[in-house]
Amino acid sequence: MSTLKEAKRIVFKVGTSTLTYDTGKANIRRMSKLAEVLSDLQNSGREVVLVTSGAIGIGVGKLGLKSKPSDTPGRQAAACVGQCELMFIYDKLFSEFGHTVGQLLITKSDVDDPERCSNLINTFEKLFEFGAIPIVNENDSVAVDEIVFGDNDNLSATVAKLIKADALVILSDIDGLFSANPLEDASATLIPCVDEIDDEIFSLASGAGTNRGTGGMITKLQAAKTATEAGITTVVMNGYDPTDIYKLIDGHSVGTLFRCK
Ligand code: GLU
Repeated sequence: MSTLKEAKRIVFKVGTSTLTYDTGKANIRRMSKLAEVLSDLQNSGREVVLVTSGAIGIGVGKLGLKSKPSDTPGRQAAACVGQCELMFIYDKLFSEFGHTVGQLLITKSDVDDPERCSNLINTFEKLFEFGAIPIVNENDSVAVDEIVFGDNDNLSATVAKLIKADALVILSDIDGLFSANPLEDASATLIPCVDEIDDEIFSLASGAGTNRGTGGMITKLQAAKTATEAGITTVVMNGYDPTDIYKLIDGHSVGTLFRCK
């Protein structure tokens, strides 16, 4: 697949920096647009999954904390608060467009355990059968390792593999993969298509995300590698304007497309 035109089952991943303002509060305008576009794709007969970050970020904003807590219990408590708020907003927004959402909070141990993993896949399939939209996040409140090491880019690739998705779309605060760091090098250009995610491609990515998000381009490349090796076309694109997703679905080049094997 070299465009997303034919993709039926699509996993979308959206990061904290796309979902929130610098204040840490939810960017309702953007979340609303995202819910509208994904609802429309679901109406067109596609099966949509949303992997969302933002629990800790929105929890920090809601609790009125100055920044993300540096200790694990602090981040876990923020995630408890933020996850409720996040799902409350999604539930409300998707309902406005006639859709029902279901929350799945996943830990790495759920995926590693064969029985729990097969239950998880069955739940996804039932949600698809019921026409509901699965909304996924890491279970940050209990998964200590996931908070310290985990990121939703890799989680989204794992989910895409589990449910045998046709495509994975990672919505970021950057346009895609560049030939150099665009913040440091004005001559950097966007790479529209990558066939092989090798060391040279990894060397183009700089690690740091924003202070609200977790991953940088490296975790996006790791996710793209996992997904493409499983036959899932992957796109990294800017989530600034969620209606750009339509251009992608119509077969146009948006962001960086990673071709699958
Ligand atoms: N699961 C985390 C959250 O909801 C985010 C992890 C990530 O940004 O990759 O805050």
